[in-house]
Amino acid sequence: MPDAMVAARESKAASGSAQQVDVAVVGAGFAGLYLPHRLRKAGLTVVALEEAGDVGGTWYWNRYPGARCDIQTIDYSYTFDPELETAWTWSEKYATQPEILRYLGFVADRYDLRRDIRFKTKVTEATWDEANGRWHLATDNGAPVSCRYYIMATGCLSAPKPPEIDGVKDFTGAVYFTGRWPHDGVNLAGKRVAVIGTGSSGIQSIPLIAQQAEHLTVFQRTPNFALPAHNGPAPSDRMSLLQGDRAAYREQARRSMAGVPYPQQMAVSWQLSDAERRARFEEAWGKGDLVYILTQLWADQGVDVDGNALICELIREKIGTIVKDPETAAALMPHDHPFGAKRPCLDTNYYATYNRPNVTLVNLRQEPVKAITPSGITTGKRSFDVDVIVFATGFDAMTGAIRAVHPITGRDGKSLSGVWAQGPQTYLGLTVAGFPNFFMITGPGSPSVLSNMAVSIEQHVDWVVDRLAALRDAGFTTIEATETAQAGWGRHMADCATLTLHRLANTWYTGANVPGKVRALMPYTGGVGPYRSICDEVVSRGMLGFKLTGPDVAAQCNDGEVVRLQPDVRLVLNLLAQLNLPPIESMGALGARAFVNEFNNSRPAGRPVGAIVDGTLPGTDGPLHYRLYRPATPGPHPVVIYFHGGGWVLGDEQSDDPFCRDMARRTDMIFVSVGYRHAPEYRFPAAAEDGYTATRWIAEHAVEFGGKPGPVLVAGWSAGGNIAAVTCQLARDRGGPEIAGQLLVCPVTDCTFDRPSYNENEIGYFLTRSLMYWFWDLYCSPADRTDPRVSPLRGKVAGLPPAFVVTCEFDPLRDEGIAYAEAMAAAGVPVEQLKARGHFHSSFTMVDVVITGVQGRGQMAEAMRRFAGLPPGVRRGDENDHGRASTGHRIAAAAS
Ligand SMILES: Cc1cc2nc3c(=O)[nH]c(=O)nc-3n(C[C@H](O)[C@H](O)[C@H](O)COP(=O)(O)OP(=O)(O)OC[C@H]3O[C@@H](n4cnc5c(N)ncnc54)[C@H](O)[C@@H]3O)c2cc1C
Repeated sequence: MPDAMVAARESKAASGSAQQVDVAVVGAGFAGLYLPHRLRKAGLTVVALEEAGDVGGTWYWNRYPGARCDIQTIDYSYTFDPELETAWTWSEKYATQPEILRYLGFVADRYDLRRDIRFKTKVTEATWDEANGRWHLATDNGAPVSCRYYIMATGCLSAPKPPEIDGVKDFTGAVYFTGRWPHDGVNLAGKRVAVIGTGSSGIQSIPLIAQQAEHLTVFQRTPNFALPAHNGPAPSDRMSLLQGDRAAYREQARRSMAGVPYPQQMAVSWQLSDAERRARFEEAWGKGDLVYILTQLWADQGVDVDGNALICELIREKIGTIVKDPETAAALMPHDHPFGAKRPCLDTNYYATYNRPNVTLVNLRQEPVKAITPSGITTGKRSFDVDVIVFATGFDAMTGAIRAVHPITGRDGKSLSGVWAQGPQTYLGLTVAGFPNFFMITGPGSPSVLSNMAVSIEQHVDWVVDRLAALRDAGFTTIEATETAQAGWGRHMADCATLTLHRLANTWYTGANVPGKVRALMPYTGGVGPYRSICDEVVSRGMLGFKLTGPDVAAQCNDGEVVRLQPDVRLVLNLLAQLNLPPIESMGALGARAFVNEFNNSRPAGRPVGAIVDGTLPGTDGPLHYRLYRPATPGPHPVVIYFHGGGWVLGDEQSDDPFCRDMARRTDMIFVSVGYRHAPEYRFPAAAEDGYTATRWIAEHAVEFGGKPGPVLVAGWSAGGNIAAVTCQLARDRGGPEIAGQLLVCPVTDCTFDRPSYNENEIGYFLTRSLMYWFWDLYCSPADRTDPRVSPLRGKVAGLPPAFVVTCEFDPLRDEGIAYAEAMAAAGVPVEQLKARGHFHSSFTMVDVVITGVQGRGQMAEAMRRFAGLPPGVRRGDENDHGRASTGHRIAAAAS
């Protein structure tokens, strides 16, 4: 039914005088201004409904002293119109609230936006009318609205969190909230002021309030990391980058991780000396740039507890040098969260303010607030008489403003609060299954508050408006996410979150600041650029995960999950695809070896171990090289004989160096990586026999290496997994050595290519079907392929040592690995399996590149320790709760 007819019928029926539009937008901040502009240009009618008296959103409400942006203003601006960019010049590196508000007013005037905005109008309820395919919005002022599409641009930080302390109403002095600061300002001169809260708003306002007040008492529950803003003119280096090529600068921001054009940092902390790390830190401290210090120190700062702790220590050192009173300094030093896991703040003279004689810090961890009394604030230890209380207690972030419209009723009477009872569930952070034609700008599940929001807002608005225009052109009138797509997005969100340290902090990112709020890491942590490419992929794959319907067109539903790979695996595969490499099998054996060497040289160096020793051992037909990795701990250690991957053709005893280092550290065992002979120079059974011979020799000489006497263990990846499996069978059949356990990572176990994983993962995941054909052809003639020394699945599998078998979802070898594990288990061998979801053949050996492999390597190490009779290892910082169902992972838990 055409819109006009629906509208006519409706207005007579249910809604009477409802205002009829194609699209209703709620909010008139950065997002709610850009939306009407784009929607109008797309030929859609629009009304924006805004509770405030004018445009500005965040910058309308937050007028407290010191309110500024903390992303450099040249980046925190609209970029959709190059003429707008040159028509406005920012006066400072970090503009003040009044300047940003003026800018948004300027934008509203320039594009004549106010004519489509109803101010002082709060949306109170929203209901989907199934029969007419429209939303009905109730408001607290004026006509309700009937619209085909309902877009919430209500802001991530727009619902102030009410104070949690009793007695506020009894207080006889003045009470202010930073998020609702009076428009004509507040005179605090000569007043005794209390500030409660030391998040961004507190940290920005405290130095200025201290300058005015007679006395300022700051009540701090949790200290936050704050860094000097060094405000002033926009830095010349950034300005010249922008002015040199504005379009390229903006595009780089859109493809970056945080929405500000900085490169990916490559050096990891343990590759830098103390002096180098300190120099990097000092440079970052001097820059006064949040995104810089959050991303540019070293590559592992946001993903590894140890790499992060180095920064925390350096910042605490700074606090100690600025704040004169040691007790106050200690109270201001954060110890309870990694740097960046909670939003750090930019400040001007924050720490130095505590050196003023008129400022007192009250550490609520030591003396919690008992009550607010008529004259002030009482803690467990003392009473403070004050004239003014300022609550800088933050926001019910991300979901607060959305849930404040209540109820939002979707298809079949479903309420959004009900659907989100265990935490927000969304598809792409843009929409929710069961809520047709409903969109959120920077909703939970999108990069939002972990990014430069100006960039993220523009991307969301563009994506939504482009879709609405395309739907209209194709005759569709409803769009709705599918449950499958939404659940998949929840899993992907959780996968991304395991890469970060957010799980280690109680923050407003997880809802921990609001009593009773379900804990779930709400923003998408996978980065702005990857997120944008995923949204684009949804479109290029035929609106994947959406159901589209229209009165005169056949319904379309292209169901599925947009990202099934682990996020870092996806990045690696995308990078490899961009390199457009010729197939490895086309390079010839020598060319392929050279390529692999070059590839290996470009990867991050492995982490330090106690000692590395190269040597040779006697093989069947001459010496074989080996490389031994000894842990730093005192021995003797159990010994693991390791076989590298490479299809019996490529690699050597050094090629899996990062994996061997990592496993030696995790298991606390000696790893001896064996340089067995390669095809095509040495064909079957050379590799298998070398593997067995080396194992026997190393077992006999284990004590000389500093190893424990007694059984050894074997491990291998890919073709090396094949050799490890074969070695166990040969050791059983040839009288030893005794093997305590086998770790088989993505092993080759059989010579057939017809299992489903070969078909599903034939191409696109680096190890291809045709590469496997090539390896087999070079190593083994068809007549020999059923020999258990190359197809151990065809051999006798009873009586083998306990096994830990790792298989990866996107690996042609997946199903033969599972088949081998199941065959051993059926024959009575103790077997544990790790079926790694979203991983590819190389996931676990690409140490420090595929970081989502950490948890799996932790499990492998634990299994090896069990096999060797060692107690469970101490969990390393980087695997703390990785992938476990911590409170931060409720989204995933609920979705999976
Ligand atoms: C002090 C402060 C500093 C910040 N600094 C930065 C920064 O430097 N960089 C950065 O990227 N981000 C920053 N942010 C985040 C900031 O919120 C976003 O950058 C951006 O302004 C959000 O724009 P928006 O349009 O999405 O939402 P908002 O600006 O929050 O606007 C939402 C609007 O919706 C209205 N609204 C909500 N519910 C309803 C309803 N039911 N009915 C009618 N109207 C409703 C609200 O009144 C509000 O005006 C900051 C936030 C704060 C609080």
